[in-house]
Amino acid sequence: MSPQRQTHEHKTTLQLQGQQVNVIIKASQRKSLRLSVNHNGEVEVKIPLRCPKHEIMAFLTRHNQWLEDRLDQFKQVQQLQRQQMQHLGETYRFRRSEQSHKQPVLMAGVCYYPNIWTETQLLEKVERWQREQAKELYQQLIDHWWPQFSQGALISKPILRIKKMRSRWGSLSSKGYINLNLKLMELDPKLIEMVVVHELCHSHYFDHSTHFYRLMAEKLPHYKQLEAQLRVVEKNCAY
Ligand SMILES: [Zn+2]
Repeated sequence: MSPQRQTHEHKTTLQLQGQQVNVIIKASQRKSLRLSVNHNGEVEVKIPLRCPKHEIMAFLTRHNQWLEDRLDQFKQVQQLQRQQMQHLGETYRFRRSEQSHKQPVLMAGVCYYPNIWTETQLLEKVERWQREQAKELYQQLIDHWWPQFSQGALISKPILRIKKMRSRWGSLSSKGYINLNLKLMELDPKLIEMVVVHELCHSHYFDHSTHFYRLMAEKLPHYKQLEAQLRVVEKNCAY
């Protein structure tokens, strides 16, 4: 990854649909203005350095409708997240359990969560649980596949780190860490395995050269099909 370019950040608020919305203005060396809604539901405006305030305001006014639509979409996704979860490629609706257990129980499309969990804690608790599950599953996959890579690898057996990443499923660092996205837990296990194998192939080639893909094809002959499947998931991802 390239080093971060210097940016100046400024926070303000905006009145939209009768609600106060946080706005983060990021000034950097760029030519045009760019608008987005981040994963916290905040508005982000990227602007060139020394862009006059009236220009920013005019830009926001011009894109008011777009912004309102995006914020609506964000709220809908958030609401859906409180109603259901994705786990290993399946959808489960949340329901408070009648029995006393400490962990969620997934059964027939329902995630029965412990009755001691309050609704406000739900997402946070579910994420913590999912992280535990991820640790186990990802480690199993690494343990299973590593013997096929250890010989001639540029690093020793990579150490697992689970991260919440916005733009990638995984990465392998030359320092010997395999970083895997927590969000992978929402996907079909076959796709998780493909990402793990992809990252382990980087233990031999850090780039995406033909050598890299030759190795990938050798380990997972149907990897292209899986990659296409992953792209479909990415496209349907609303956030
Ligand atoms: Zn890669």
